[in-house]
Amino acid sequence: MTTHADSAGTDINPNTEASTNAGHDIPLPRRGDILTLDIENAAFEGRSVARVAGLVVFVDGAVPGDRVRATVFRKKKQYAEARVDEVLVPSPHRVDPACTHFGVCGGCKWQHMRYEEQLRWKRQHVMDAFQRIGGLEDVTVNDTLPSLSPFWYRNKMEYSFGEMRWLLADELGEVSRDAELFAVGLHVPKRYDRILHIDACHLQSEESNRILDATRRFFLERGVRAFSTRTHEGDLRHLVIREGKHTGERMVYLVTSRRMEEHMQDYAALLQREEFGVSTLVQGVTQRKSTVAIGETDVVLFGEGSIRERLGGNTFRISPTSFFQTNTLQAERLYALAEQAAALRADDVVWDLYCGTGTISLFIARDVKHVVGVELNEAAIRDAERNAADNGITNTQFICADIVDFLAPDARDGGIADGIPAPDVIITDPPRAGMHTKVVDAIGRSGVSRLVYVSCNPATSARDCGLLAEHGYVIEDITPVDMFPHTYHIECVIRLRREESAG
Ligand code: SAH
Repeated sequence: MTTHADSAGTDINPNTEASTNAGHDIPLPRRGDILTLDIENAAFEGRSVARVAGLVVFVDGAVPGDRVRATVFRKKKQYAEARVDEVLVPSPHRVDPACTHFGVCGGCKWQHMRYEEQLRWKRQHVMDAFQRIGGLEDVTVNDTLPSLSPFWYRNKMEYSFGEMRWLLADELGEVSRDAELFAVGLHVPKRYDRILHIDACHLQSEESNRILDATRRFFLERGVRAFSTRTHEGDLRHLVIREGKHTGERMVYLVTSRRMEEHMQDYAALLQREEFGVSTLVQGVTQRKSTVAIGETDVVLFGEGSIRERLGGNTFRISPTSFFQTNTLQAERLYALAEQAAALRADDVVWDLYCGTGTISLFIARDVKHVVGVELNEAAIRDAERNAADNGITNTQFICADIVDFLAPDARDGGIADGIPAPDVIITDPPRAGMHTKVVDAIGRSGVSRLVYVSCNPATSARDCGLLAEHGYVIEDITPVDMFPHTYHIECVIRLRREESAG
């Protein structure tokens, strides 16, 4: 059955009980239907939206403004899901994706959308979240700050080896059996046992792509097997490439199941060739079944075993597995915005909640009196302390604690926060889940007038800001910052204020 959904763009509320289809002649879509759809919106999670007979249809592979022919592959009560078969009339916002893996690789879902349009949708998603979830009307949301470069922005790529290569339709029968049993690339979305062979990725660097290709050839020629997540046989697990965008230093971290002495000296010699620009090679060895790229023991094959990267005025040492913001240049702009939003003064005491390895604390330390960083992860706190010492910064203090405990009402009476100077400013940068309600309440009670919320998830920060509004906080403005071009992810700097006397 083919339905021409000329009704796309009706003013019917998507939440209306769709099955009634009141007042429409067009039948509701069913699984297997082929529809002509006019794409209206970019939804969360990188999909786009059309409507048929008042029913929302989520479409994979389309751009707002496209007219497409698409097949419905799922039908639920409130919505349907469809996949594009053919673009009938391309959207003016559509561009040719730079990457040959686009559409299969889950990494860059929006590469076919003009970059300016991606930025516009990210801002729209932030506005929608604050209105719908936070219940906050008339919030000023500035234009999204673009990434300085929409490609080659990542300082870290993590590839996996697999013995189940994901074969594209036009590759079936064209690759040799050996290659079918050996792939290095990225996980196919929702298929954790399948690895998509990556020829070249546009997110890190040309050198990174050369390393990926040379590594694949080297081990394939030697008949070394990829680790199987099903049988747990095979030696090659992960290839992690990290580089300092400011320093030019580059690390290869190869995670394997055993030492493989018979190969590693030759592999090290290969990677020392100039074209790869590798400053250090580390091998992580692990027998664990888990699929995270962490060795139980790390062996340095050449170089220092870590690289350096600059962020703001500071230099950070990055080990194979340490956490570091993946888009260095944009992280500097994010932190600069957070600093501006905090309107810092030389005599300020700042609390940096969820401080990670202290990158924000150290970024602002020279401009204020004292910074207190709080973070749950012990290794991150140790890194933060070492980073402060390495950069000669003496006015920071790092505390390993759950923020909930740190801010607990009785914490000041002999508890964790005892003896810690009260804040003039709080900067908070929680994980995607946002802040615990106890944390929101404690901030509400703290009386602090300048609050900056750095958020990697507009849905949870909108929720938290809705609660903070009940404590008298007003959002001055929100600036979305694009840290991950071509993905739907968006970071925000939210500037909140409260009258000193309020609360
Ligand atoms: N501000 C840092 C890191 C932010 S990521 C940066 O810009 O690099 C969020 C951090 O919150 C992580 O390091 C995570 O370990 C920490 N975290 C998560 N839940 C926490 C909790 N309940 N208490 C303290 N820290 C927590």
